[in-house]
Amino acid sequence: MTLIAVLPGDGIGPEITAAAVDVLRRVRPDLVLEEALVGASAIDVTGDPYPEQTRSLLRRSAAILFGAVGDPRYDGQEIRPEQALLAIRKEHDLFANLRPVQTLPGLEHASSLRAEIVAGLDLVVVRELTSGLYFGQPKTTRTVDGVVEAIDTLYYNEVEIERIARVAFELARSRSNRLTSVDKQNVLESGRLWRRVVTRLAADYPDVELDHLLVDNAAMQLVRDPRRFDVLLTENTFGDILSDEAAMLTGSIGNLPSASLGPRRGDNGAMFGMYEPISGSAPDIARQNIANPIAAILSAALLCRHSLADEEAAQAIELAVAEAVAAGARTRDIAAPGETSLSTTDFTAAVLARVTD
Ligand code: NAD
Repeated sequence: MTLIAVLPGDGIGPEITAAAVDVLRRVRPDLVLEEALVGASAIDVTGDPYPEQTRSLLRRSAAILFGAVGDPRYDGQEIRPEQALLAIRKEHDLFANLRPVQTLPGLEHASSLRAEIVAGLDLVVVRELTSGLYFGQPKTTRTVDGVVEAIDTLYYNEVEIERIARVAFELARSRSNRLTSVDKQNVLESGRLWRRVVTRLAADYPDVELDHLLVDNAAMQLVRDPRRFDVLLTENTFGDILSDEAAMLTGSIGNLPSASLGPRRGDNGAMFGMYEPISGSAPDIARQNIANPIAAILSAALLCRHSLADEEAAQAIELAVAEAVAAGARTRDIAAPGETSLSTTDFTAAVLARVTD
């Protein structure tokens, strides 16, 4: 029995997760899907954004299908829905964040770049998620001689760099054997260590063509010629920024899925992971049945690929989404002026109709 934890969360989370669940059930009817509370919806019921019942479900599960958390009612409060997300990442050591960025044929016009620059775009950002500037100590604000100062620490060790780099090299192998590692080795100690470790590891992957880019150049190349990239490997902060930049190339934040993988492995060698749209809970459009479910549905495809080692199911989902879009199915955020837009549920039906089971 393979158990999948389903955490719909807040805002549009339940609507788009329902779409992903429908599609996942169609390709893998054998899975046991169990739902639990997270985020604001969990605080409302239990007072805790990540209650014990949810924790225990995750420990028993092979993977997590996650919607989104966040609710303006809890802005500025001490207990916040987003705390659940960080707690899950930390508890399960989800160090590898994969963000595939693809332009779906038919949606080239939705990009902020010219259609001919983004047509056929297909890259993956591999971002280190549990170290670097966001976690390094000391991290504090203090007053010295009457002047307020703030300190963040950019820390990496070679073990952290090696494990994320291996994920990227393996991923490059499963795609077109090209890997670009991004750092800032000209000014940062951690950047020099990053480059040294990645270069050393390259000897284990002689079939992968590796190049290095400084992060400022990478940011520029992403908007100049994004199709030159296949797998982009980078540390936490740079990955945060570059992956949002890359996401916008596809037109809508509602299109992009993500996987966050940890070291825990299942019997078949597949990795434990959390799969979620890159967007937030979009409270402005919640409960209107207009949210774009593509990111959630494609997150289910990533779950099949990485946590179930079921490439066939992953591709069946990805193909069904591509075919629905190619046939003209659009939600409001990706419809061109004059194009009819579908509700979340009608768009999902258009995808389901194309899933071969
Ligand atoms: P957001 O990503 O929720 O929304 C940004 C804009 O994109 C909004 O206009 C929204 O309507 C639109 N959008 C997002 N997803 C869409 C979809 N699937 N279809 C159509 N349009 C879509 O970002 P925000 O408004 O800055 O944040 C809202 C809440 O989400 C906040 O509480 C924030 O903390 C939280 N958040 C959660 C996560 C997460 O759960 N992983 C990530 C980011 C933000």
